[in-house]
Amino acid sequence: MKLVRGAVVTMDPDRRVVDDGAVLVDGALIAAVGTFRELTKLNPDAPVTGLATDLVVPGYLNGHQHLTGDRLIQSTIPDNLPPGDAIFTWAVPVHAEHTGDDDELSATLTLAESLMNGITSTFEAGTVAHPERVAAAAKRVGARLAIGSWGWDIEEGPFAGSPDEVIDRQRQSLALADGHLISAWVTLVGHNLMSDELFVRASQLARDEQVGLTFHLSPSTSDTVEYKARTGLAPLVHLHELGGLGEHVKIAHGVHLDDHEVEIVLETGAGVIACPWAYIRLGQGTTQSFRHLDLWKAGGALALGCDAENAGDMVDAVRTAALFAGLAKDTTMDPTVFGAHDALELLTIRGAEALGVADRVGSIEVGKQADLAVHDRTQVEWIPRSADPVLQLVWGSDGRSVRDVYVAGQQVVADGRLTTVDVDDLAADAEAAREGLLRRAGLAGQ
Ligand SMILES: [Zn+2]
Repeated sequence: MKLVRGAVVTMDPDRRVVDDGAVLVDGALIAAVGTFRELTKLNPDAPVTGLATDLVVPGYLNGHQHLTGDRLIQSTIPDNLPPGDAIFTWAVPVHAEHTGDDDELSATLTLAESLMNGITSTFEAGTVAHPERVAAAAKRVGARLAIGSWGWDIEEGPFAGSPDEVIDRQRQSLALADGHLISAWVTLVGHNLMSDELFVRASQLARDEQVGLTFHLSPSTSDTVEYKARTGLAPLVHLHELGGLGEHVKIAHGVHLDDHEVEIVLETGAGVIACPWAYIRLGQGTTQSFRHLDLWKAGGALALGCDAENAGDMVDAVRTAALFAGLAKDTTMDPTVFGAHDALELLTIRGAEALGVADRVGSIEVGKQADLAVHDRTQVEWIPRSADPVLQLVWGSDGRSVRDVYVAGQQVVADGRLTTVDVDDLAADAEAAREGLLRRAGLAGQ
């Protein structure tokens, strides 16, 4: 048993905030939430970490994150390339060269940064080649992870295969779930890079195994153009006609959807994961088509993601939530429509509901997993402290003030440092891996 002290933002059904509160952690679980005074009285022997000035929030959820492919060449792909070049000149050749060691190192770094910024649950967009090495990285770092593997059945491309081969690989990555921190889901690359057969079989596999299915769709307008040319229909209309959509589906992006597609998302209960920094960084037009707000207003299942280190780059949930809230206000020219409290819901309980994990994480409630992020409000950006900590969290801070983090009750960040791995020890390997990948991909000197 231990007590984590601070103002507790529970995100429970009443959205209770307990000033000078505490969370009683028993093993992996939350055993009690209350005022510091009452909980110390009831548990006089429990060791205490934290200060009355701290802010304790549910660990953040990142619903779409590439753990391999981008990290080792982070912030390297130029930001002035025409659409498609970043993928075919850079990402594809670099993905093709990833070794198992590269995948593990890449995932270790991204998950380390995630934890340091308070992200306790990461949903992977699909490991390029070696999911077992990514699972090993998550275990080593102590992060909660939903893992998958790169799935596409196009003619050429790294790790492409026939539908049989891709489904087989998905089955293998589902077997990596360990019943503790590692879960798994079916992950296709998506876009117009999956045959109807692959999509239908992947959806069936997810249904049979009772896991999620995720894939990329419509971050820009090109998927709509390509689906209409191939099928005569908008992408989600086509996928719906194939019978593959449902509550198990978690669509990454869904920026450029027409009205009928928005209706289909709501009707089928599919979730959508918005990664606003990627759209802004890549110039994909979310300011022209902010359908995420329409989904949110209609009660749709919505979560946020940080995407990739060449598409938004920083793995910082709070920064992502602030951008999302700003886009909601600005695209509607209505400051009343969506605010900081709504944004924090997407990072926590509402994101957890959209991703199908709200029974275990997403709020600080008795019986849930003890996944907690603690912001140090003695740091300068928090001085003086607002009476509304959520307003100040979203607009006035970011991951820098995260000082302590717990995943399933284990303290993985203490006093601003990871307890599980020493990032300094990884730096030399990361530099060497970066050079090796760029050289093997024919991009040396970049
Ligand atoms: Zn992605």
